[in-house]
Amino acid sequence: MAKTLNLEIVTPDRKVLSEEVEYVGAPGVLGEFGILPNHVPFLSALGIGNLHYKQDGKAHFVFVAGGFAEVNHNKVTVLAEVAEMATEIDIDRATKARERAESRAQQAKEKLDHARNQAALQRAIARISCQTRGREAGTCS
Ligand code: ATP
Repeated sequence: MAKTLNLEIVTPDRKVLSEEVEYVGAPGVLGEFGILPNHVPFLSALGIGNLHYKQDGKAHFVFVAGGFAEVNHNKVTVLAEVAEMATEIDIDRATKARERAESRAQQAKEKLDHARNQAALQRAIARISCQTRGREAGTCS
């Protein structure tokens, strides 16, 4: 029985990560799901949130938004629309994006696309928490 999984995360622009890991947790559109070695084949669409994986017992965090995750033969392939390692996240940018989304929501203009604004707010909050959780786990300095 295998003890690890190969996790590969790619976006339309680049390969974000390819690592041997012990566990993968990801934000599926229907909720968080977790994958251990020897998992049965599985496919899920991804929402907005933090994927996390364990490597040598340590938790690592990656922001993902949209796309799919596929599990097959101890390989987890994440085809994400957008993905950033916790270390790559620009916190000032995410904080400004959150402030913009909050201020648009407060102004409550009739023309505001609420779903789009809500998604922007969710991305900003998830980016901030991704880096916070990485720092707390000691895997994002
Ligand atoms: P912003 O309003 O700051 O552009 P956004 O949520 O609208 O944020 P996205 O559409 O999710 O941005 O991403 C566009 C591109 O910018 C992607 O390549 C993404 O990786 C990058 N990006 C966005 N925000 C950040 C951030 N805070 N740190 C690092 N990269 C970011």
